[in-house]
Amino acid sequence: MHHTLQLTLAPEIALDDDNFRRFVIQKLRLRESDNPFIRKTRQSIDARSRQVKINVQAEVYAGEAPPALVGTRIVYPDVSKRPQALIVGCGPAGMFAALRLIELGIKPVLFERGKDVRTRRRDLAAINKEHYVNPESNYCFGEGGAGTYSDGKLYTRSNKRGDIRRVLEIFVAHSASEQILIDTHPHIGTNKLPVVVSEMRESILKAGGEIHFDTKVTDLIVSDNRITGVVTNDKDEHTGIGVILATGHSARDIYELLHAKNILIESKSFAMGVRIEHPQNTIDKIQYHCETDRGPYLPAASYSLVTQTHYKGVQRGVFSFCMCPGGFIVPAATAPGEVVVNGMSPSRRDSPYANSGMVVTIEEADLAPYKDYGPMAGLQLQRELEQAACKLGGATQTAPAQLAVDFIKARTSAHLRETSYQPGLQSVDLYDVLPGHIAFPLRDALSDFGRKMRGYLSGDAQLIGVESRTSSPIRVPRERESCEHPEIKGLFPCGEGAGYAGGIMSAAMDGERCAEQLAKLYAGAPA
Ligand code: FAD
Repeated sequence: MHHTLQLTLAPEIALDDDNFRRFVIQKLRLRESDNPFIRKTRQSIDARSRQVKINVQAEVYAGEAPPALVGTRIVYPDVSKRPQALIVGCGPAGMFAALRLIELGIKPVLFERGKDVRTRRRDLAAINKEHYVNPESNYCFGEGGAGTYSDGKLYTRSNKRGDIRRVLEIFVAHSASEQILIDTHPHIGTNKLPVVVSEMRESILKAGGEIHFDTKVTDLIVSDNRITGVVTNDKDEHTGIGVILATGHSARDIYELLHAKNILIESKSFAMGVRIEHPQNTIDKIQYHCETDRGPYLPAASYSLVTQTHYKGVQRGVFSFCMCPGGFIVPAATAPGEVVVNGMSPSRRDSPYANSGMVVTIEEADLAPYKDYGPMAGLQLQRELEQAACKLGGATQTAPAQLAVDFIKARTSAHLRETSYQPGLQSVDLYDVLPGHIAFPLRDALSDFGRKMRGYLSGDAQLIGVESRTSSPIRVPRERESCEHPEIKGLFPCGEGAGYAGGIMSAAMDGERCAEQLAKLYAGAPA
């Protein structure tokens, strides 16, 4: 016998496994002695009214074996003797491209400037404790890319449900919790991601693919508008049937290389601002309408905010970005002399802090002073902002900060609050760091958010700068269908750095798409 249930329940029933089981057995008048199999297939929190509710979809099997939850039959054939394709960058885009190439019978050869997940950890400790930024190994560069020591939120605005499910199932096949197939807002957590990434590496290697760490691509081999290979570490040449360029939004040297080689790149819209940090309890009280704390069942609350502001006659969007409940702010710079912040959280989301990017769209008018930089104008603005933040913070990884209420009143904070940002904070006037086209829209938006979420602008909220790497300021163009660069045959710009993704899920899906197009065009595989 098989039942499908749609339930709306109180948190103490829905979110406690024993209580939930008892509830379902009673509701369906089953007997515990029959040992029915009960599993949730979808779960979301509805906190719109004062009484928080949990929407649950569940399947119940009594006297019948349940089908496997992970539908994709993941089989990676031996491709060690097959034609090889080159992938630059071992982030989500590069790794998913590699796994898809294997499925399509092509041997992937990946080049990654950074280190494997485990060795990389030491460099992250050095940034946090010694303020030393290794330009080849940091929160953005290394195995798994920016996605490894990230928050691991797996949502995307894409509506390709089949592709989303497939990517989630591949994560589950590499040891991510099945819970990510159930939650409407799935999350892996920074403590679990390195295991998932290293299992994906093992799948690639076992199938006969190659991954080269500490191996930076320093040149592209192009003749007659066709890419035939890459040069690594300024000396070694490698060839392949195609090249997937998945270097992420922080590989500035790759943009410079493309520009220097006259390979078309374009500027694109992006957003920059700060990160805002609150005690998690403040956000819980606002979102769950509770007096003291969220209690033992509900997870750390999140939020999403957006508004429109005007500055010098131009409309600018201001929005929260990559909100991390129960998380930490981390130093995400990729070179000495710059300060960049980002956020992450462990799988349990149990830190006492909530943080979120709070960013302002950069408009064409803002780039006018940088017009001599051509398509690199946005990148130059980004770089200057990060360097200004570093200088004001004290020329280390200490980040400039200001209480949100003081920022609105344009006064430097006498005292900052405790923070999750390990390298520490320096009280500054953020108007000295942020240009007017970011500072003033941010000020107006914060006032608006304070009205929309009462308590959001409490004296506990502090702004920490700068959140400058929300997305790439540059696009590497490609043909809509074939995903090939319009000028260079065999070159597949891919993932976030090329401007086709904005997060782990979209980067992974884009990696798969580029792999399929490469296989179709250069190995005759059906796409
Ligand atoms: P990347 O992940 O940036 O990977 C690019 C790789 O290319 C890097 O490993 C880099 O070392 C390598 N590379 C660069 N240049 C070269 C070269 N010349 N030669 C060889 N290798 C090179 N997204 C979410 O969806 N959810 C989240 O919760 C989330 N949290 C985040 C938290 C933090 C702290 C950070 C930094 C990012 C977070 N993101 C999150 C963003 C997400 O990580 C990125 O969107 C995603 O990783 C982009 O994937 P990608 O493969 O396109 O590029």
